[in-house]
Amino acid sequence: MADRYLNFTGTAPGRFLTRKLGLPQPSALRRWSAEHPYLEGELLHLTAGASPHGAELTEIFARTGLTSTPNPTHPTAVVLDATGISDTPGLAEVHAALHPVVRSVAENGRVVVLGAPVSPSDHHQAAAQQALEGFVRSLGKELGRGRTASLVRMGSAGAAESTLRFLLSPRSAYVSGQVIEVGEADPTTSIDWDRPLSGRTALVTGAARGIGEAVAEVLARDGAHVVVLDVPSAQQDLVRVADRLKGTALPLDITADDAGERMAAALADRGGLDILIHNAGITRDRKLANMAADRWNAVLDVNLTSVLRTTDALLKSGTLKRGGRVVATASIAGIAGNVGQTNYGASKAGIIGLVRALAPGALAEYGVTVNAVAPGFIETKMTAAVPLFIREAGRRMNSLGQGGLPVDVAETTAWLAGDASGGVNGSVIRVCGQSLLGS
Ligand code: NAD
Repeated sequence: MADRYLNFTGTAPGRFLTRKLGLPQPSALRRWSAEHPYLEGELLHLTAGASPHGAELTEIFARTGLTSTPNPTHPTAVVLDATGISDTPGLAEVHAALHPVVRSVAENGRVVVLGAPVSPSDHHQAAAQQALEGFVRSLGKELGRGRTASLVRMGSAGAAESTLRFLLSPRSAYVSGQVIEVGEADPTTSIDWDRPLSGRTALVTGAARGIGEAVAEVLARDGAHVVVLDVPSAQQDLVRVADRLKGTALPLDITADDAGERMAAALADRGGLDILIHNAGITRDRKLANMAADRWNAVLDVNLTSVLRTTDALLKSGTLKRGGRVVATASIAGIAGNVGQTNYGASKAGIIGLVRALAPGALAEYGVTVNAVAPGFIETKMTAAVPLFIREAGRRMNSLGQGGLPVDVAETTAWLAGDASGGVNGSVIRVCGQSLLGS
């Protein structure tokens, strides 16, 4: 559904009027396109405290399509390496580095702060590094004009390359205020960054439309063969998506008792599965006092129990391969809660529990990562059905002042699905324009 307010504020009279009335002035976000795959512009690399990562970071930045310059007038990206800050007096360097430049960051620009893992045994280091989280989340709320701020906590620059490339690209347009932990991972060799999923097989549930269709499209763009799954009643749309992406259609209701086994059978010909995307989901909103059991059960069954059941079946049958990637779809409703969505909020919080428990341990030993994306307000048929005033509030109540697009969730999913993202595991990444709801 078109965001008429965003279109209006993009015109000269619209800008004038909204400024006079003190109304939000969202900027049209710059997203990935084949013609403009990079953010384009200048990158300013700053350091607070002593950092061992300088040289490696410089090499990574050279591969982002941005030009590193010592004194850019309007940097498109500012990266502050604060990994060396180990006590609170060191935080003065964060202010000293960013205060003079923050005003000049270009529209749709990025501020990325690099932090070190928070020490469990050094409370001075922990206080200083945790401070960066509050700093970045606050800065994200101040920036405006389509600019975002994120914190990456990393042990090594190499493991963080795919995350830095994502954040410093138009693919992360609707991701702001996030704290991304990057652990160590098996080194990846010879990545084709233009088609990082080449040779991979991905299964996307709920892919006949909306976010799932966009996820399938982006994974296919990045080189994966996509098996798109949706309910049999959506078969016509599903086949259209599969044909367009040269993928395979799998009409199947994920709540069927044998859904996992049928997925495994369909994937056997392809030699198994590399990327499993749990996207299918439904809402059946009512306040708890008015909610009949069938509404509760339907949402829990589709959004959570089926995800658990099919994941277990695909693991048990050995269909999900070594080094595989699982990305499940949560929601900010599962983090902040929402009126009328006790069933939905419970199901999406359950997804977060599943991810956190499954990610470490046995699967990690096989190089499998399990993460979740938590979309905020995304423009789809699901949100078009929301009453007008609630829909308008959902769109505006975030730092970017607008709803996201399905492609924003898809780009985030594709980053997590990449071989080079092995260091990101057990994370919940919000794709919400830094929604004001939730932590
Ligand atoms: P959508 O309703 O447009 O698409 C969901 C798809 O899932 C549909 O094609 C539907 O047929 C399919 N599906 C439903 N039940 C199924 C089942 N039993 N078996 C197989 N397929 C089934 O929704 P969307 O907005 O694209 O949402 C996709 C995911 O993102 C959902 O998990 C949703 O909860 C989550 N999400 C969406 C938003 C948003 O703002 N749109 C926000 C947060 C989370």
